[in-house]
Amino acid sequence: MSCIFCKIAAGEIPSKAIYQDDSTYAFADISPKAPVHILIIPREHITSLIEVSDHHRDLLGHLMWVAAEIARKQQLNNGYRIVVNAGEDGGQTVEHLHLHLMGGRPMTWPPG
Ligand code: AMP
Ligand code: ZN
Repeated sequence: MSCIFCKIAAGEIPSKAIYQDDSTYAFADISPKAPVHILIIPREHITSLIEVSDHHRDLLGHLMWVAAEIARKQQLNNGYRIVVNAGEDGGQTVEHLHLHLMGGRPMTWPPG
C-alpha cells in the first residue's frame, strides 16, 4: 500500500498527532489554509466518499463526531468549517478519505 495517509496513520510518515483512537487518526495539515487546519482520517483505507458503502455508516458518523470534539478542544467557539473533497471535481488530491477541520478565522463562502 503506497497511500501516504495510510502511512501517516501507521506512524511510518511523521505527522503532528491531534487525536487518535481505534478507527480514527487526526493530524495537522502540512500546508494549513487557516490558523487551525486539521485532517481527520479513518485508519481503514477508503479512497473517498464516493467509495463508501453501507457498513461505513457508523464510521462516517464517528469521523464527524471526532471533528466536533477536536473543534471543542481547540476552543473554536466562534465557529469552524468541515470540508470533504470527493473525487476530481471535488478537488480531492489525496486518495484516502479525510475531513478538513478549519478555523481560527472567518471562512469565506463559496469556496470556489
Ligand atoms: P484534499 O485536496 O482534500 O485531498 O486535501 C489533501 C490535504 O492533505 C491538503 O490540504 C494537503 O496540504 C494535505 N497533506 C498532504 N500531504 C500531507 C502530509 N504529509 N501531512 C499532512 N498533510 C498533508
Ligand atoms: Zn490510505
